[in-house]
Amino acid sequence: MIPKNHPRYESLMTRELIVEGIKKGITSTQGLIAQGRGEAFDYLIGEKSTQYALLAEKVAAAKLLLAKKPVISVNGNVAALVPVEIIKLSELVNAPLEVNLFHRTQERVNKIIRNLQTAGAKNMFTNSDALIPGLGHERAKVDTNGIFIADTVLVPLEDGDRCKALADMGKTVIAIDLNPLSRTAQCAAITIVDNITRAVPNISKFAQELRGLEHEELQEIVRGYNNKQTLSLAINEIRKNLESLSGRF
Ligand code: ATP
Ligand code: MG
Repeated sequence: MIPKNHPRYESLMTRELIVEGIKKGITSTQGLIAQGRGEAFDYLIGEKSTQYALLAEKVAAAKLLLAKKPVISVNGNVAALVPVEIIKLSELVNAPLEVNLFHRTQERVNKIIRNLQTAGAKNMFTNSDALIPGLGHERAKVDTNGIFIADTVLVPLEDGDRCKALADMGKTVIAIDLNPLSRTAQCAAITIVDNITRAVPNISKFAQELRGLEHEELQEIVRGYNNKQTLSLAINEIRKNLESLSGRF
């Protein structure tokens, strides 16, 4: 048991969820390493949703509401960390979930689907009958009616190659990635540099606020957005935090 007053309670509890995910067979062991890399960047950005992350989350919500065929991609870390929250977002923006794994086995795909369904997911794409061009066979598998024809895909913690392949297919890729230097962060149209545990509830909150807006008003929110600026602000945040920390000694 991790005591609630432990200074790193939130971070340690998140780690526990990933460990649980591995025990349940829904998260890969490589997922542990990905989480560790994410934690390191979260530490550097101050473990909070910054102003630029909140802006990207709002733009992402608007973009998902505007999309004709939005899909939310779910991997083993997402399924372990935010199963209930991702289902809620999926319902709010009418974007079905699709399990999409980097270290893909059909057994793990099925387990994640069952876990999400038990948690209440109703709207899911569960076939793997199409291939994303330009990727190795297993990593390329997607649903013909899902990610394959989606116009907008939310990919929390996506691998850089697949992010690029989806963008090359003409899709709007929205990534959640704490590392502003990753290839995923660099190739997405909208990069949310925030922990998935904060990002998904934030996008839902914005989606609830924006749901009543007209098409034009939503487009206005998306229009002025500049992703290069988001990444540069994220890197600047890290620089500022490091400078202020180094000044302490
Ligand atoms: P690239 O995008 O350059 O190909 P990668 O995808 O190979 O890098 P991984 O470490 O495999 O890099 O991917 C995990 C990514 O997810 C890392 O960039 C990490 O910062 C990010 N990440 C891990 N856990 C979280 C989390 N809880 N919330 C948000 N981002 C996270
Ligand atoms: Mg990545």
